[in-house]
Amino acid sequence: MSVVQNTGEKKNWYLPGIFTGLGITMKHLFYNLLNRKKMITLDYPEQKYEYSPRFKGNHILTVKKDGSLRCTACMLCATNCPAECIKITAAEHEDPSVEKYPISYEIDMLRCVFCGFCEEACPVDAIRLGPEWQTPGLSGTNFIYDIQKLAYRPQLKGGILTHVDDEERHKAGI
Ligand code: SF4
Ligand code: SF4
Repeated sequence: MSVVQNTGEKKNWYLPGIFTGLGITMKHLFYNLLNRKKMITLDYPEQKYEYSPRFKGNHILTVKKDGSLRCTACMLCATNCPAECIKITAAEHEDPSVEKYPISYEIDMLRCVFCGFCEEACPVDAIRLGPEWQTPGLSGTNFIYDIQKLAYRPQLKGGILTHVDDEERHKAGI
């Protein structure tokens, strides 16, 4: 980086610098107003950016065919989370082939860094990072996502079915 110092008398004059700056701003303003299609900014929220399908946004807890949670409360995601923002309370399931399930599963979205380590750690495709990226809320409690929000929010239209089928999983011994 080079620093150019103005040592002449003009360095004490503020108005020429201010008017030059305003001139540049006005030039860009009128150029953009007359060439709206070429503008590189979007009119959010009317226009939204199309992210790649691989974008890692808000979390989803997947469900089985019967609509119940795929998660077996193994705690691998919570252990692997670098932000320590996943809190799970496990309980024993009535079905002996299921072992455990979460009675409470919470993610503090304000602490999450969307690294995807939870998704990578999960052995049963129970948690995924989906394409949603808008997370509005008026208070801190709006950003604690519970099971209802993670698995059954209206945007998921009844839940996202897991790839892992129970019968196939049991045949494979997991
Ligand atoms: S995306 Fe990363 S920071 Fe967020 S909950 Fe998963 S592991 Fe934790
Ligand atoms: S989401 Fe996956 S890794 Fe996390 S507790 Fe449930 S089964 Fe284990």
